[in-house]
Parts: sequence; structure tokens; C-alpha cells
Amino acid sequence: MPLDSIRKLPGAGSFKANLEDYEVTRALFSWEAILSELQGLPDGAGLNIAHEAVDRHAAGARAQHLALRWLGKDGKVRDLSYADMSHGSARFANVLRSLGVTRGDRVFALMGRIPELYFAALGTLKNVSVFCPLFSQFGPEPVFQRLSRGDAKLIVTTSALYEKKVSALRERLPMLQYVLLADATEDVSADVLSLPKMMAAAGDHFVIPPTSPEDMALLHFTSGTTGMPKGAVHVHQAVLTHYATGKHVLDLHPEDVFWCTADPGWVTGTSYGIFAPLLHGVTNLVDEADFDAERWYSVLQDQKVTVWYTAPTAIRRLMRIPGEPRTRYDLSALRLIHSVGEPLNPEAVVWGNKALGLPIHDNWWQTETGGIMIANYAAMDIRPGSMGKPLPGIEAAIVTRAEGGIQVITEPGVEGELALKTGWPSMFRAYLHDEARYAKCFVDGWYLSGDLAKRDADGYFWFVGRADDIIKTSGHMVGPFEVESALMEHPVVAEAGVIGKPDPLIGELVKAFVVIKAGHEANDELRLELTGFARKRLGPAVAPKEIAFIDSLPKTRSGKIMRRLLKARELGLPEGDLSTLEKE
Ligand code: ATP
Ligand code: MG
Repeated sequence: MPLDSIRKLPGAGSFKANLEDYEVTRALFSWEAILSELQGLPDGAGLNIAHEAVDRHAAGARAQHLALRWLGKDGKVRDLSYADMSHGSARFANVLRSLGVTRGDRVFALMGRIPELYFAALGTLKNVSVFCPLFSQFGPEPVFQRLSRGDAKLIVTTSALYEKKVSALRERLPMLQYVLLADATEDVSADVLSLPKMMAAAGDHFVIPPTSPEDMALLHFTSGTTGMPKGAVHVHQAVLTHYATGKHVLDLHPEDVFWCTADPGWVTGTSYGIFAPLLHGVTNLVDEADFDAERWYSVLQDQKVTVWYTAPTAIRRLMRIPGEPRTRYDLSALRLIHSVGEPLNPEAVVWGNKALGLPIHDNWWQTETGGIMIANYAAMDIRPGSMGKPLPGIEAAIVTRAEGGIQVITEPGVEGELALKTGWPSMFRAYLHDEARYAKCFVDGWYLSGDLAKRDADGYFWFVGRADDIIKTSGHMVGPFEVESALMEHPVVAEAGVIGKPDPLIGELVKAFVVIKAGHEANDELRLELTGFARKRLGPAVAPKEIAFIDSLPKTRSGKIMRRLLKARELGLPEGDLSTLEKE
């Protein structure tokens, strides 16, 4: 199947998308207009994410609408209306207030995807404190690093996680005053307290104090794909991006059932796993369990998910399973699939079309951008392999760093660094405790993303690679994604990670690490076949010169291939920060 063909979303037209015509929406777009679709705090007291996400619905017609359906690991289901979410988060805010936790204080969460996490997130924002979510699977050292770098004042966690990961760190964390245990019925000590007990004693009404759009709201650590995770600071004004992208990219409509599979420990899991769906008053599905193909298909079917937001790593895992799921599951409610986090191989878009009956819409953003910046829109043609076009209101460009500044490349098809015109609402306001690094990201009014990309003549953006991952071989610049995607087209290949390996003759040689699908044998014959296959697609200069078979690729917990680790291991170099490495 040709991968460069353009395919339109089946059914587009029968369902009226929020963004029907990209150019028209872009021309008419303004952030002021987006702000006017929100409510603002009563009496002009400012802009607060939690007010817009829950309180305004709880005070209106959607009070009893299902806000959050929680699916427990063990089959339990908990349904929470907008009124329930408003009350639960108010109780949490009152708990914080009673402990003297106040504006700007850092409230960390270390727990699985349980309802308390969502009350904690929204309650923290109501209190104008700063919410800092951590992956529950982090080990003690990564937890320590983040708590200490983030100046944690309070942490909400569970008894087991506290015992395993936090209690031994207390001495080294003098700032940390309180621990709230989400599952303890009784207090453990004067500062290790039962959250249920405190929540029960707290009032379910909380008046949000005045909140400036520039008040700090969230602290998110980056994925650590390229090095030590950075703490990106976001403010309440980010709500404008959460809302605008929920409208134009996720295309949320009032009766939608939305499922974002990302954990709130990663920015996608808060911007889209909490805020965007609630801002639109839709039903947000939360599954406590981790990835399992059969479970996921059942969730999509049984919960009648209409809009699904997931990641390439999950899609590649689903692609490994033979057969077409739509013949086994009723996926007819599903109308839109989105993906973020890594480049989405064109093969995956094509697979979605065939196996799920829908193409997969790739979009691009970073922890630093706070929300989706470049996307494929529901009613717009998809070019498989492309990240799509900038969000209305966002100016993106391909630039080169030049002497004393940057130069914007206007010619299509030229590779350069992906940059965004500064000033969008969810732009990160700092790298915590690292002003110099923050300042380095900005040149001439542009934010430089550190990703390389190109733009075609029609304005679609194409990901080339992270600047750190680019391979320089025989005078060519090769993006690993291009090579990985070509290998992925081979029916036996499940996944591939590609690096540059220093070579005295050609600078770097392209080396591929390949995971093959179950039931196939990794041998020299296959290696030769894959080499030939890649050469045909990429030409000899770009095709891998070395191919190694590997059982699994090292990935971050958010599912990104850690090429720096493949490289370090290949070269016998130090492995660097491994705090976000998924268990291998
Ligand atoms: P660190 O900055 O700590 O190395 P990270 O960059 O992986 O980690 P995130 O902010 O979670 O941390 O990820 C953003 C990055 O993920 C982007 O800069 C880009 O490299 C990659 N990415 C996200 N979405 C896409 C996409 N649709 N296509 C290609 N790359 C993507
Ligand atoms: Mg990054």
C-alpha cells in the first residue's frame, strides 16, 4: 500500500467537526475568543484551571453528567458526576488549607490512577498550590530527586508506596512537611495522615481564592529521553491551550466518552487525561490497569469510547497481534484516534485504517509546550508520517541557528529545527532552578524545541528526529525515525531503534536494533533480508550498515525509545540518568 497517499477520515462530513476548515478556523482564531468560551472566577477573581474544569459545570446544566468513569484493575467501577468532582476536589483543597499548605506550595502525587489522584490534582489547583504528579513506578531515588528539586511540601501517596519509596527519604527532605495516605483509615503519625479521614472531616465547598493567569499551577518533569529530566513550570493560563486543543484537535463534543491512556505522571496524562475532557464537560474514562491488548479493546468496546488518545508505543504493540480487532470487537462508537509522544510510523496510520477502521491522527508537542502544538485534525486529510499542521493560534517554523540569532527557513522541504513563536498560553514559564537552560531555549522571540523537522509546500510538518539523535553518515544527516519506519514496513519487524555509531571512515554508521514478531527466527538470513529491504527503500547511504536483533528496546515509562541508551550500551559508555527507564 503506498504510504504517501492522502486519506480522509471516513465519515468526516457525517459528523460535524469543530474544526471543519483549517484555514478558516486559523484566520478567525484568537486566544481572546477562547477565553470568552470559559467563565473566569466569580467577581473577576481571575482564571483557575479547576474552576473551568469542574466547578463551572457543577454549578450548571452538566452537574449530574458523568465526568469521570473509573475502571479499577479488579473490575470495580466508580462513576463521578461533575458535582462529585467538584465536591471531592473541594474537600481536598480544604484539607490542604487546614494543613497550612498555600499558594505556590508544591503538592506532589505518587500513586496509581485512582480517583483520589484526580481529586488531588483539581483540589491542589483550587488552592492555588502547585500540582506535581509522579509516576507511581518510579524507584526511591528518582522520587527523591524530584521531591527535592521540586521543593515538595506535601505528598499524597498510598501506604505501600510510602513504605517502599518515601519513608526512608524523609530525613533528606526537610521541606516535606506532610504525607497524606490515600488508603489509610487511621493516621500513622503526626505528619503521616489518613487522607480519607481528613477528606471526610473537610467541607465539600471551597471558594477558590483569586488566581492570576500567571500563578504557577503545574510542575512536570520531562520524560528524560535525552538526559536528566527537567522540571517544566506551567501556569493557570495554560487552560486556554487545554481547552482550545480539546475543541479543535480532540474534537470533543458534549456526548463524547474520551479515553487518554497516558498516566498523569507524564504531561499528556494531566493536560489530556484530566483537564481537556473536563473543560469540555465530557465523560473522561480512567483505567487503573496498565496496557493489555485484550483489555484495551474491551474497554473501547464496552465503554463505547468515541475519542481515544494514545501513543505510538501502544499502537505498535497492538500491531504485533495478528488479525483485525474490529472483526472481534465492536468498535463502532469510536470516531477519532489520536497519538502523541513519539513519531508515528506511517505504517501505523495505515494499520489503524485497516484494523480499527480509522486512521490514527498524530500530533506533536512537548512537556514544555503544555499542550498540543501541531496536529492532524479530524476533518483534514492525513498524510501518513506527518505530524500535521500548527494549532490555530500557534505559529510554527523551521529555523536554523545563525550567527547571533536564528533564520527562518521559508523554502519547503528543508530540514531545520522546529520552533514556535513565543507567547502561547501554555508555554512553560521556567525550568525549575535552571534559569540558564531556560534562557537558552529562546532566540529572537522563538522557542527552539530541540527537534528537527521539515515543512512541505502545503504546510504539513514532518518530524525528522531529535537534534541529539540525528546521525551524520558520509555527509548525510539521517533521522532515526526514517530508518525505523522503513524497517517497520517489513512484516516480521515489530519495532526498531536506530543509532549512529562512530566510524573512522564515514563519521557515523547507521545501526539498527530490531525486535521481531513472535514466531520468527532471528538469524543471518533475516538480517540479510532486512538489509536488502531497507536498502531498497532508503538507498545504501541511509540504510543500516549493521542490524542487531534485540528482545525489547529500552524505553521511558511513557513509552519512548531511549536511543541514547542503545548508543551508550553499544559503545560501552556510562548510561546516564535512568530514572525514567521502563523495567527491562
Ligand atoms: P527529555 O526532554 O527529558 O529528553 P522528552 O523530550 O522525551 O524527554 P517529553 O516532553 O515528554 O520529554 O517529550 C517531547 C518530545 O517527544 C518531543 O520533543 C519529540 O521529540 C517527541 N515527540 C512527541 N510527540 C511527537 C510526535 N508526534 N512525533 C515525533 N516526536 C514526538
Ligand atoms: Mg524534551
